[in-house]
Amino acid sequence: MFLTISTTGSAQRPATDLGHLLHKHPEKAQAFSTSYGTAHVLYPEADAERCTAALLLEVDAVALVRRSKGKGRGGAPDAALAQYVNDRPYAASSLLAVALGSVFSTAMRGVCAARPELPGVPLPLRVEVPALPARGGADLVRRLFEPLGWTVTAEPVPLDVEFPDWGDSRYIRLTLESAALLAEALRHLYVLLPVLDDAKHYWVAPDEVDKLLRVGDGWLAGHPERELITRRYLSHRWSLTRRAQERLELVRLAEADDSEVEDLDNAVEPEAEDEEKPTPLGVQRREAILAVLRASGAARVLDLGCGQGQLVQALLKDPAFTEIVGVDVSMRALTIASRRLKLDRMGERQASRVTLLQGSLAYTDKRLKGYDAAVLCEVIEHLDLPRLPALEYAVFGSARPRTVCVTTPNVEYNVRWESLPAGKVRHGDHRFEWTREEFRGWARTVAERRGYAVEFLPVGPDDPEVGPPTQMAVFRLGGPESVTPESVTSKSDTPKPVTPKEAKAA
Ligand code: SAH
Repeated sequence: MFLTISTTGSAQRPATDLGHLLHKHPEKAQAFSTSYGTAHVLYPEADAERCTAALLLEVDAVALVRRSKGKGRGGAPDAALAQYVNDRPYAASSLLAVALGSVFSTAMRGVCAARPELPGVPLPLRVEVPALPARGGADLVRRLFEPLGWTVTAEPVPLDVEFPDWGDSRYIRLTLESAALLAEALRHLYVLLPVLDDAKHYWVAPDEVDKLLRVGDGWLAGHPERELITRRYLSHRWSLTRRAQERLELVRLAEADDSEVEDLDNAVEPEAEDEEKPTPLGVQRREAILAVLRASGAARVLDLGCGQGQLVQALLKDPAFTEIVGVDVSMRALTIASRRLKLDRMGERQASRVTLLQGSLAYTDKRLKGYDAAVLCEVIEHLDLPRLPALEYAVFGSARPRTVCVTTPNVEYNVRWESLPAGKVRHGDHRFEWTREEFRGWARTVAERRGYAVEFLPVGPDDPEVGPPTQMAVFRLGGPESVTPESVTSKSDTPKPVTPKEAKAA
């Protein structure tokens, strides 16, 4: 089984730089012994214009059988012969990927001690794999490599050239072309060759999850076929696949950072007739939440999707809240929060009251169990609608605090924001914005399903036609008693003006 990697040179850079990058001298043929046979690295061509490195794995079938102790491909009782008569010698399977990973491990990490600048330079690369076992066919091969920037040629290999009517075999002749970093190309191959083969020759242990995340760094989290890749790479082991999916989702969310403070939150009415300074909506929201939490008697509070930590900061000012935990998926938001709170300079007693955790609300998290109250302030609309049941389970099913306070924009109010073009949501990352009826429908269903009572409160001026700018639901575990604090209802009776951001600029 073998594959080749070629590059072309230019006036500034000879093609033989490939040898430096791979840490294998172009003038030598080298052999490395691996657990499954001998891996050879040789260069069929190597001059300034063109350089091709070939990796050839000479499989030791006997060693393979001994190692696998019958666990090998096709573990069926009649597979004894299949251990010796099979496609191992020529098909580019997971064995080749393992050889690639061990022979080119330094290159895969993008390290070149002799020429440190080299790994960072994209090269015109051409990878050829003459016999690639591809479960899913040429179509899947394209779906896997094209999103990574490769130009893919995937031709099915006929079962027998002498007998064309026998049709195609399950093998593909694959050519990939791209201007890419060599380390990235190697990592793509290392993961995707076994994924296409879909029959790992070795037992997949839990540390494969770490390996996959390491090798998949920078390209796997956002790959459209992420789920299939993870599942097959981890040999369909469900618990490992789930763990990898969770971690990749965290990576994806952290990459698509949406922790910006919403502009409209800070908008105030500049022409307000009142002498008193009008209160921005963001502040009104925090005051409403604090009132709900105080009325509930909560001492230990979760701020889920805490963003840059404004609410955590407000909670810290009230000694009634003895333990405050801010959770967010965005590392960047948490870093800003930590700076805002001056966590590193805080006295010991104060610091012992606050914890910031990275985590996704779309997954159950044991660390969030046993709190008095949880706040989701302008968070649910940042999740894709199909992820909401997962959040519901994580918060109301698993963490299960006594009180849960959820706020979200009321989309009906958007017509009152002069600066907001019709039909637009308030923030680029909002996946949806609900009417009052939609929010109430969702909240009532959740409450019923999870054994909570729910009440609704307006935040900001409660417009007779379109309602308030922010809508709030307060859930109380099992309790029929009212959860409405006086201070909140009375506040909404005397609305403060809340106004568009453009008014601020005026
Ligand atoms: N509660 C804050 C921030 C609101 S912005 C405030 O009112 O100012 C929404 C926040 O939710 C962002 O910080 C975003 O990173 C976070 N978020 C989005 N999806 C999340 C998820 N699945 N798990 C945890 N946090 C998430």
